[in-house]
Amino acid sequence: MNGHCNELIIDSKKSVVHHKHETSCKEEEEDLSRHALEAAYTSILRELGEDTSRQGLLRTPLRAAKAMQFLTKGYHENIEDILNNAIFDEEDHNEMVIVKNIDVFSLCEHHLVPFFGKVHIGYIPNKKVVGLSKLARIVEIFSRRLQVQERLTKQIATGIAKALEPKGVAVIIEATHMCMVMRGVQKTNSRTVTSTMLGVYLDDPKTREEFLTLSQGV
Ligand SMILES: [Zn+2]
Repeated sequence: MNGHCNELIIDSKKSVVHHKHETSCKEEEEDLSRHALEAAYTSILRELGEDTSRQGLLRTPLRAAKAMQFLTKGYHENIEDILNNAIFDEEDHNEMVIVKNIDVFSLCEHHLVPFFGKVHIGYIPNKKVVGLSKLARIVEIFSRRLQVQERLTKQIATGIAKALEPKGVAVIIEATHMCMVMRGVQKTNSRTVTSTMLGVYLDDPKTREEFLTLSQGV
């Protein structure tokens, strides 16, 4: 009996040590990455002709490094973790669910400048539904990465499709790209609209129409 207990204690100690180790590993990795980014931002500032020792810029490389880590934190997140315990069985619910005007902020992978706008999501459940706030979290996982709007739209749709296996998923993103607004063509009012339709939204024009009408209305 005693031996068994000891084993358990040792095991649980081991798992605690292991757990601590994992946490510190992750933090260490983040620190290393932050230092490397900080050094890189210092080079960029110098290359721009800036004096990195002047008051206003002293902590800029570190701040920029932290900001970039935050804006790309989606690389370390996945849908499974987010949806853990948030999927519910709903035998009778097969009406369209629409969540519209979800704010989205991302970075264009071609210029590393922001694009931002609204996401509209619709799905028709097939026995499984998800807490509505989780749809916004899914948007965040994929938008906090370097992106192109078309891929972001598709990743959100296929992510939901995989997790919920619904009858269909529709995703529309309307966004303003700062790379178009601030440089080059300077089209300040231009917005880019992308959409991905899966399942019934693709096969049935009426369902698609219903989603488009409901998601575009105020
Ligand atoms: Zn761009």
